[in-house]
Amino acid sequence: MLTNSPPVLTNPSLNFLETVKQATPGDSRLTMCIQCGTCGGSCPSGQDMDHTPRQLFAMIRADMREEVLRSNTPWYCVSCYFCMVRCPQEVHITDIMYTLKSMAIAADVYETNSAADLSQNFVGYVENYGRSFEFGLATRQYLRHQPLSLMRRASMGLGMLSKKRIDLTPSRIENLGQLQAILARAKELEAPT
Ligand code: SF4
Ligand code: SF4
Repeated sequence: MLTNSPPVLTNPSLNFLETVKQATPGDSRLTMCIQCGTCGGSCPSGQDMDHTPRQLFAMIRADMREEVLRSNTPWYCVSCYFCMVRCPQEVHITDIMYTLKSMAIAADVYETNSAADLSQNFVGYVENYGRSFEFGLATRQYLRHQPLSLMRRASMGLGMLSKKRIDLTPSRIENLGQLQAILARAKELEAPT
């Protein structure tokens, strides 16, 4: 367990459902889910997910903390918000996915998950450079999780480099400090209390 976890994520008096609800900004409407499955049917990442959002929400209600936090589902959520637009109960599905990622990190169960690494690296580049860095992201990901695939992908990467579709080194945006201030404020506002 990380020592700097927000208190709500480690409060032993709360069951899993209450923890997720309280750790999600605003009213998540999680308990309003009627298990219709519209979210999973709308999700572009559904095929890669261990569980559909509908299944995950049923597991949260069943207090299956360990299984939920080890699921790759939140990490494959690309925050497209399509499920939220279509949910008949207006459940804040995408926000709950963010909560579950925070909880998985706090519980230190995310490291075996390559999607979690990709997400962390992406955030790191945005915080340090103001934008993503595709070449670095792909290289780090393949080196750590699929080193044998790196050689097969190398020719494609070289082709993209030669056509200037990707850069060899990261570049910072102008006025990075302004973005960093916005990100820091957003973290403050979204931090569970
Ligand atoms: S679309 Fe909404 S109500 Fe239906 S299963 Fe998903 S979260 Fe639940
Ligand atoms: S917001 Fe996430 S869970 Fe919802 S449809 Fe998009 S990828 Fe799927």
